[in-house]
Amino acid sequence: MHHEKHSFCRICEPFCPVVASVDGAGKVVSLRPDESHPSGGTACHKGLSFLDVHNDPDRLDHPLRRTNGREQPRGLFVETDWNPALADIGARLAAIRDAHGPNAIAGYLGNPIAFDAPAYAAYLPFMEAVGSRMRFGANTQDMVNKLTGAGHIYGSTRSALIPDLHNSDYLLCMGANPKVSRWTMASIPNDGLDILRKLRARGGTVRFINPRRTESSTEEIGPTHFIRPGTDVYFLAALLNAIIARGGVDRERVARFGKNADALFDFAARYPADRVAAVTGIPVAEVWLIAREICEAPSAAVYMSTGVSQSRQGMLAYWLSEMINFVTGNLGRKGGTIKPNGLIDAFPPMVGSQQVSTSVGDFTLPDPIGPGLLPTTMLPDLIEAGDVRALILWSGNPLISTGGEERMRKAFEKLDLLISIDIFRSATAELADYVLPATSWLERKDINLVGMGMQAIPYVQYTEAIEAPGGNRRDAPWILARIAQEMGIASVFDENPGIEDVSGAIIDQLLANRGLTRAQLASMPSQTLLLDPLDPESFYTRCLRHPDGRIDCCPPAFAEAGLFERCDRIFDELAGEPDDMLKLVNIRTPYHHNGWMPNVARFRRGRNAENPLRIGPADADRLDLFDGDQVRIVTQEGGVDAEVLVDASMGPGTAAMTHGFGNHRTYGMRVAQRRPGVNVNAVMPMGPEAFEPLSNMSWISAVPIRIEKIDRPE
Ligand code: SF4
Repeated sequence: MHHEKHSFCRICEPFCPVVASVDGAGKVVSLRPDESHPSGGTACHKGLSFLDVHNDPDRLDHPLRRTNGREQPRGLFVETDWNPALADIGARLAAIRDAHGPNAIAGYLGNPIAFDAPAYAAYLPFMEAVGSRMRFGANTQDMVNKLTGAGHIYGSTRSALIPDLHNSDYLLCMGANPKVSRWTMASIPNDGLDILRKLRARGGTVRFINPRRTESSTEEIGPTHFIRPGTDVYFLAALLNAIIARGGVDRERVARFGKNADALFDFAARYPADRVAAVTGIPVAEVWLIAREICEAPSAAVYMSTGVSQSRQGMLAYWLSEMINFVTGNLGRKGGTIKPNGLIDAFPPMVGSQQVSTSVGDFTLPDPIGPGLLPTTMLPDLIEAGDVRALILWSGNPLISTGGEERMRKAFEKLDLLISIDIFRSATAELADYVLPATSWLERKDINLVGMGMQAIPYVQYTEAIEAPGGNRRDAPWILARIAQEMGIASVFDENPGIEDVSGAIIDQLLANRGLTRAQLASMPSQTLLLDPLDPESFYTRCLRHPDGRIDCCPPAFAEAGLFERCDRIFDELAGEPDDMLKLVNIRTPYHHNGWMPNVARFRRGRNAENPLRIGPADADRLDLFDGDQVRIVTQEGGVDAEVLVDASMGPGTAAMTHGFGNHRTYGMRVAQRRPGVNVNAVMPMGPEAFEPLSNMSWISAVPIRIEKIDRPE
């Protein structure tokens, strides 16, 4: 006898509502969109294919203990029980902390933890209990620039806004491809871009700024203005200049809510459109056209996403995009950018930045009690130097998702202890001393925590575990709490020794912020409570957390960190580059999503099995390249070989590859290993020049490459 349960997908920001059909044995047999859900009830093929991940025979069922040396690329593992595994891990971590201090224990937070509310909430208290500031994570390859930027501009990392697409008359969309990747840091229902069609239908305009024409940029939705990769900050400065020159600044609003506006305008003045056009590739007339449209639109939003974030100056670009929204009067305004209601409508002040001194230099940990992370590009150096001796990975796979794979592998061999908490034996887990089996999102209770405060339709949804955990899998918060207990540091077991449902207790605490309980939510349709919409203008009273309650239009920390001088230096570098310089950017396809899908056979068939190097026809002609040619892609970090795919969507001077591939040594994921593809991140820059100071965001896109043809044997 089948029955149905409401839940939601936890792969990306929309948290799409789904209905799981469960058979008499308690197994989920199918997933479909929850069409009755107030968010509109849509879900994409990736989420609806999640049973392929959940039921994968390569899923981890039991804790694994390594029996051979980490210098062996293929781990030999034996199954073990939780108690001996956790006792050994706890004792070894405690010994490392006692001998080398708490910072010798580092944590790395993978992207899936952002979609696991109890684990996300458990991570910071665990690291605080350890006493370690060595916090790393996939966010430095994704969007930590936005969080840190919001902290400096608004005073709280939680104050980042989203475009009000339901009401907007104009969208300038930069470095994003929402048709394929949805909206980063904006939880907007996955509606196949209907929201943009409606914007157009009410007479609005959408323009994309991208180095390639993405699937989102169609005649129906809006055109692409091709930008040279990594030059967005200069385009935005030029756009701000043009807006100022047109008289598009809402001086009254800026004076009322802002400070340091003159310093912002002085910065922008360095980069007028006619100075930057040759660097950005966007003609002066197009900058002025966009400036006029933004000034004349009844409401407008500039939105920038991952493509910009990853390209060397992500926080400065975020700052300028926010400032354009602010000075034009569109920030905190219907149809502009808004800060929606959330489960926790609180905006803790960013507690400055903390200096972390190490043998390889001093680093800034932004917002140490918030989402701040140290630069992942420095992790191998910190391990090699002996500063980091143990590493705990929470659903993290840094060998594939960060730069410099070979450097990272060599460094990981030197660790005293490497722990991976995951649902698979990933490429990085293959090197671990212990691989601890976590639950999938169908096996754990949860709420849509991270999406809240960023939702176009604000709601809180609760889900039970839809299926009992298979094998000996446990929720990540329980695993962390048990490790803490074995280390003899603070854990949830101190106050509640017998607690089994650690995740439930964390969810109860989170819901209590709104006076809610799990039982209340469980009794509601789709287990969902719609939150009241808020007046967009309330942003100015709810979300500004500098002591003076103002928006800092030019945070002094930017100049102190040397970001403006660096910006000038990079501009000179770019201006001096040869015209035929190729830059490598990231591209996501509908069949890949970071590390979620590499072992799903149906997503690894035909062209989807590989991640070719895409290059535009003009560049292919110039380099005498054809589809299927083998080339070596060379950067300062090394080279990888790939097959060429000539792709007319690519702008001039732009090459693109999909990351998340390169699994030829991922022996625990058999489909991924048979269809490994190329780890393009292996040649992304590493070290002190490879991250943006202050935000610690990795430079992992818009990277200069050289292409060497590999001749086929006659
Ligand atoms: S859009 Fe994201 S959250 Fe929604 S179903 Fe697809 S993968 Fe899941």
